[in-house]
Amino acid sequence: MRVKKQKRNRRTVKFFSACFGFREPFKVICDGTFIHHLLAHRLLPADDALAKLLGARVTLFSSRCITAELKSLGQSHSESLEASLQLIPASCDHEKRVNAAACIESIIAEGNGKHFFVATQDIELRRRLREVPSVPVIYGLKNSLLIEQPSTAQREFVKCSEEKRLHASVSEIQILRKEVNETDQGRDSFDPDQSSRTRTLKRSLDSTEKSKFKRKRAKGPNPLSCKKKKSKEVSIPSPNKEGSVPAKKRKRTRKKKDSGLEQGSGS
Ligand SMILES: [Zn+2]
Repeated sequence: MRVKKQKRNRRTVKFFSACFGFREPFKVICDGTFIHHLLAHRLLPADDALAKLLGARVTLFSSRCITAELKSLGQSHSESLEASLQLIPASCDHEKRVNAAACIESIIAEGNGKHFFVATQDIELRRRLREVPSVPVIYGLKNSLLIEQPSTAQREFVKCSEEKRLHASVSEIQILRKEVNETDQGRDSFDPDQSSRTRTLKRSLDSTEKSKFKRKRAKGPNPLSCKKKKSKEVSIPSPNKEGSVPAKKRKRTRKKKDSGLEQGSGS
């Protein structure tokens, strides 16, 4: 049973790592209720307990508002207050203290850019965070710690964003069209056909991605390695233009002169 739970937890961590870019060491912001739970159930040291849960190193955070809230609760929460003071304070913009839930929500606002796990026993906050796509939630259940499974809202969000990523947006296509026009003007006629347009767009995408690192490669075989073949190629077209070529020409200098003449006559 325990192994099953652990597997489920690790799968959730993988979900958030893969879909939202959470990276080790995972940042966990703990509110007062969670710190109190850790102490009450002797889940200590806290970072070990959370590292075991997430299967990776963790860094624990609180915030000024969280510690201030614990302070306001008086002697009964003095131990929790002390513990929260040992955690790294996540920066929040609140000059006047707000309640811990509001503070955490402001920290993870705008897509949880700093990739915080939120650890809380506050049921109402947990319910609200399920609606936020990129916030994994940790809570304690007696002696064990758990991560909430990705909610349907979170799974839906990932699904939608994956589909979006597969298709270029209108603005992206416009930018690409411009690029194609600028780069391919004159060289490659811009075909109005939809299929060929997508082809050129793809080509321009490839070229913008690779151009920085792409080296020019010689086209065709190394001319030095197929000397004999080349001499034949040179000797074949020359009789057509000049009518007669002495077959016994063996000196390289003469052949060079021939090819020079051809180029001159061709242009
Ligand atoms: Zn705050």
